Amino acid sequence: MSIKSISVCGYAKINLHLDMTGRRDDGYHTVNTVMQTVSLCDDVTVTLREDERIFATCNIQGVPTDEKNLAVRAALMLREAVGFSFGVQIDIFKRIPMAAGLAGGSADAAATLVALNVLMGNPCSIDQLCELGSRLGADVPFCIVGGTRFADGKGDILHDFPNMPDCAIVIACEGEGVSTPWAYRRLDEAYGNFEASFGYVPKEMAALKEALQKQDVLKIANTMYNIFEIPVLSERPVAAEIRSLFLSCGALGAMMSGSGPSVFAIFATEADAETAVERLKNRGYCPYLCHPVEC
Ligand code: ATP
Repeated sequence: MSIKSISVCGYAKINLHLDMTGRRDDGYHTVNTVMQTVSLCDDVTVTLREDERIFATCNIQGVPTDEKNLAVRAALMLREAVGFSFGVQIDIFKRIPMAAGLAGGSADAAATLVALNVLMGNPCSIDQLCELGSRLGADVPFCIVGGTRFADGKGDILHDFPNMPDCAIVIACEGEGVSTPWAYRRLDEAYGNFEASFGYVPKEMAALKEALQKQDVLKIANTMYNIFEIPVLSERPVAAEIRSLFLSCGALGAMMSGSGPSVFAIFATEADAETAVERLKNRGYCPYLCHPVEC
């Protein structure tokens, strides 16, 4: 077998809207979310091997390289589904902060599924890859498809949504990380486990949809929502400080992504975003300037 290799980007996501609609009998929360692909990305290089080993390498210490890595699990899953016998090496150059609410692991898994499928001559359709991906994590189907999407169910059932216009987005992830189960426990405490008797009513998304349809960046920034913000930011003062800092730098809007602690801000101009990046750097933070990516 000649060596075959392909490199793809595994893009991070932010949530423009994230709300709960209830809790299923199996304990999973059901969500309403609008996700957006952004240009902050990991580089994922997938290489076929003559032996049968499937493993990852990573430029960041502490990222698992065995089947604890979501990208390795993705390759194992595709091998089982398609029935190939060769091995796979997945070299990940990480830029997306980990356990940050930016779906970094899901992005690597999605990139691996797409790249490996291409290397094998596309045995699976995108829908089939999404079905496989949803078994790895709720965000993986979105990371495969990308762009601007509304998702419900566990966040894995995707629907078309108006595209986000180009704009400057700054993301910062600092301070103590957030484990997603911890964040959900905080939410459950705050909202009576989302039992029907608590009467939680999910927020409307009509204003955000209209803002996206009109390509109105200011209105998008003003209509974003994340149910995790109050319970998580009250326990993560650094993230809360960054959110305030973004607003004091003139951001049109700033919000936590996913279950945090990363915070993103939308700016009217590239120059405003660059000024905010400098101010955050002067405080010792490590912000990323990026843009929406269309699918
Ligand atoms: P989400 O937004 O989907 O909840 P996240 O951005 O909060 O995800 P990840 O960056 O995906 O979180 O990482 C969560 C954990 O998953 C890490 O602590 C890490 O041990 C594990 N992990 C497995 N595979 C990867 C990977 N390829 N990249 C990063 N973390 C990974």
